[in-house]
Amino acid sequence: MSSQFACRGLYIGNEWVQPQSGSMDAVINPATQEVIATVPVGGRSEVDRALDAARQAFDHGPWPRMSPKARAQILQRLHDGLLRRAAEIASLIVAEAGATQALAASMHFAAPLQHFQYFIDLLVKRDFAQPVEVQAVPGFTGGKVLAAHVKVYEPIGVVAGITAYNFPFFLNLVKVAPALAAGNTIILKPSPYTPLEALVIAEVAEEVGLPPGVLNVLTGDATVGEALTTDPRVDQVSFTGSDVVGAKIMAQAAPTLKRIQLELGGKSALIVCADADLEAAATAGLINFTVQAGQGCVLATRAIVHNSVKAQYVDTVARMARQMKLGNPTDPSVQMGPLIRDAQRARVERFVQSGLDSGARLVCGGRRPKGLDQGFFYEPTLFDDVDNSSEIAQEEIFGPVGVVIGFDTDEEAIRIANDSKYGLGGGVFSRNVGHAYEMALRLRTGGVSINGGAGAMSSKAPFGGVKRSGIGREYGEEGLNEYLQIKTIDFHGG
Ligand code: NAD
Repeated sequence: MSSQFACRGLYIGNEWVQPQSGSMDAVINPATQEVIATVPVGGRSEVDRALDAARQAFDHGPWPRMSPKARAQILQRLHDGLLRRAAEIASLIVAEAGATQALAASMHFAAPLQHFQYFIDLLVKRDFAQPVEVQAVPGFTGGKVLAAHVKVYEPIGVVAGITAYNFPFFLNLVKVAPALAAGNTIILKPSPYTPLEALVIAEVAEEVGLPPGVLNVLTGDATVGEALTTDPRVDQVSFTGSDVVGAKIMAQAAPTLKRIQLELGGKSALIVCADADLEAAATAGLINFTVQAGQGCVLATRAIVHNSVKAQYVDTVARMARQMKLGNPTDPSVQMGPLIRDAQRARVERFVQSGLDSGARLVCGGRRPKGLDQGFFYEPTLFDDVDNSSEIAQEEIFGPVGVVIGFDTDEEAIRIANDSKYGLGGGVFSRNVGHAYEMALRLRTGGVSINGGAGAMSSKAPFGGVKRSGIGREYGEEGLNEYLQIKTIDFHGG
């Protein structure tokens, strides 16, 4: 397996382009700190060129005018082309994002391809011009007329897809797949930490003959993102990242009134009831702050545990956390890799100090692991006796830090869970599933997993947040609808 990647340039209008500025950025393997690629930093001139290409492809090209079935055929080739490169892409995800091998193959790679296939199948099955039943309506000159309508689902235009670093292949593909399935054209701007998977998607798009300008990839930093979100040639912004940047994007996109979709951060709650299967709840609790080293938007990092079982829960999670194998995930036995950069680890360390200052009890972790001097590693860290108003219970740490808060009554558990500015995921563990369902209904969040349900792995289930966790939904039919607008055509008969 080679962890080096030969970047051919920015991908614009089916050409590989070098940046006019000549500026290049190093991509670092967070487990070894080695440079694995250098990629161009896009600037104003490349943004202009990509916008012209995407606009031309949308306004005059074949893509939005093709039948959904014809588009599905081309997208199936893109899907299959990506599948053929599975091993290489998974290795890249391990090297670039620090994912463990099991996670790279499943959640990082297989899940978005499954979502992609779902959208392709939907294109074939779904009727994009739906008749609405005939009804008698008041006529302009009195009396009644018969009115018949057709709802036509049309693409919106040029989409700017801007993504975060933590699940690079997944996040990029779940923007590209529905945006293109709907007939839009897209300019994808991946995170500067993890730009390589977006470039692989472009390579395969070129190979399978996607028409010019339909998919463009601009590597670069916030300057590129800002240019895309302010330019009148962009019709829609689909963003995945932090709430802070999400708010900026909303403001940046306001003067040109773009359609926006925001998939943002979270601090989701995992409620563990007194009657829960405690071993299963503790396993889920551990996964929720250690998978991808805790760098996951939907992770339920705030465990709210019934006081009668809290001590046992904490002991079980801490025992499992101490046994986890950390290291370079090229070793398949490694269970947790590094944080993305030293700055992210420093941020985690600041939060851990804040937890100690708040009087919370550090149960395990709270330091860099011994013997791993290269790479941005941090031990799985658990705090007990946490006050829900403290910073470590309220802020998205985005690192391997879990907090535990006790409760006595359901009312209290729901109140604590909902006392958050975020509302993305959440979980309830109880042997009484009906009871868990009743609690799930009362949680102010975009999704709840009962006893460890599949969550974001399901292509049919819409995913997204409320409050500061976002606007809009991904996956499922609703996920495709985000990239479509409705035109109503009506026929009146006197
Ligand atoms: P980030 O918000 O710092 O950056 C995300 C992207 O926005 C990057 O590509 C960045 O270059 C770009 N950007 C930054 N400033 C911009 C601006 N002013 N205008 C336009 N683009 C700009 O996020 P991150 O640190 O890469 O990722 C972590 C965050 O992403 C966490 O908050 C996490 O919860 C969230 N996230 C959410 C989901 C979800 O589906 N809800 C999934 C993954 C990650």
